[in-house]
Amino acid sequence: MDHDGLAKRIRSSLLEKEPMRLHTTWKVGGPADLFISLAYGEDLPEILEYSRQNRIPLFVFGAGSNLLVKDAGVRGIALKIASDFAEHSIHGNILRAQGGAHLSRLAGVAAEAGLSGLEFAAGIPGTIGGALLMNAGAYGGRMADIFHRAGGITFSGEEELLHPGDMNFGYRSTSIMQRDIIITWVELVLEPGDPFLIREAVRKNLDHRKERHPREPSAGSVFKNPPQGPAGHFIEKAGLKGLEAGGARVSEKHANFIVNTGHAKAGDILALMERVRKEVYQKFGITLQPEVRVIGQ
Ligand SMILES: Cc1cc2nc3c(=O)[nH]c(=O)nc-3n(C[C@H](O)[C@H](O)[C@H](O)COP(=O)(O)OP(=O)(O)OC[C@H]3O[C@@H](n4cnc5c(N)ncnc54)[C@H](O)[C@@H]3O)c2cc1C
Repeated sequence: MDHDGLAKRIRSSLLEKEPMRLHTTWKVGGPADLFISLAYGEDLPEILEYSRQNRIPLFVFGAGSNLLVKDAGVRGIALKIASDFAEHSIHGNILRAQGGAHLSRLAGVAAEAGLSGLEFAAGIPGTIGGALLMNAGAYGGRMADIFHRAGGITFSGEEELLHPGDMNFGYRSTSIMQRDIIITWVELVLEPGDPFLIREAVRKNLDHRKERHPREPSAGSVFKNPPQGPAGHFIEKAGLKGLEAGGARVSEKHANFIVNTGHAKAGDILALMERVRKEVYQKFGITLQPEVRVIGQ
């Protein structure tokens, strides 16, 4: 299909057959039929209308840090809301950012401004839009605790204002996960604090991540923690650290991370996830649920 019509109507750049592995932290994923990195908010209505009129499926994502895109890639449009759409501003104790703003960088911005509440996010390599959708969290903090409001546009083109009561926040889940909506901006409500202490907390969290997390490409924790305890604990106890499938390996450093050793395919990661689930179920009777989102057929 020729997409020249859309290319003429929008200012954001548009690429055909773009490998998704270039846009995910796991560095796997086949091509997207049409890839757009959003740079101008006013392009959104055009993109949405094009997708609707031509019945082209639309997949929205951010930094790709919680995604496993399959090797067959993405059919239709993959719309990236990340570094090209990432402005932020501070109004009193409210931090406002476009959906593509990098969460960890915002933690630094808040620290510099002497605002507390976002320290937990230092080192989380996602966007604020993705983090809101996932209710990302760490070190006892989570997006739900500091969420003020957000703006979005539905796939049918309606603008929406989202308040905490609309979100149904759960453990790494929100009600907007089930909806066809693009998060375009988010406001967080923070608290004035001692800039020195805030910076210290940020530094401590970053140091802890450096120490505990593997360096190889990953998508962070693969499985959600079951009610019985940390998923990594059961994976380690099942003796699965270091287990490999193709180019994917259960990290020796953190058992709930699967790393790409350099030439992994999405299929390798999926096979390893399945093996881990099976073994943990057989040994402990616990069914692990993926935290990462699997995309594609
Ligand atoms: C090394 C490492 C450490 C990590 N540590 C943590 C951690 O401590 N805590 C934690 O919670 N997570 C962690 N993660 C996972 C991940 O960084 C977070 O879930 C992050 O918030 C995802 O943001 P993203 O922009 O990468 O989203 P993506 O992975 O791009 O997308 C995730 C989901 O959100 C949707 N989405 C993304 N942006 C939008 C938008 N603007 N509008 C609508 N839908 C959107 C996508 O469709 C997808 O369903 C880690 C990942 C890595 C690689």
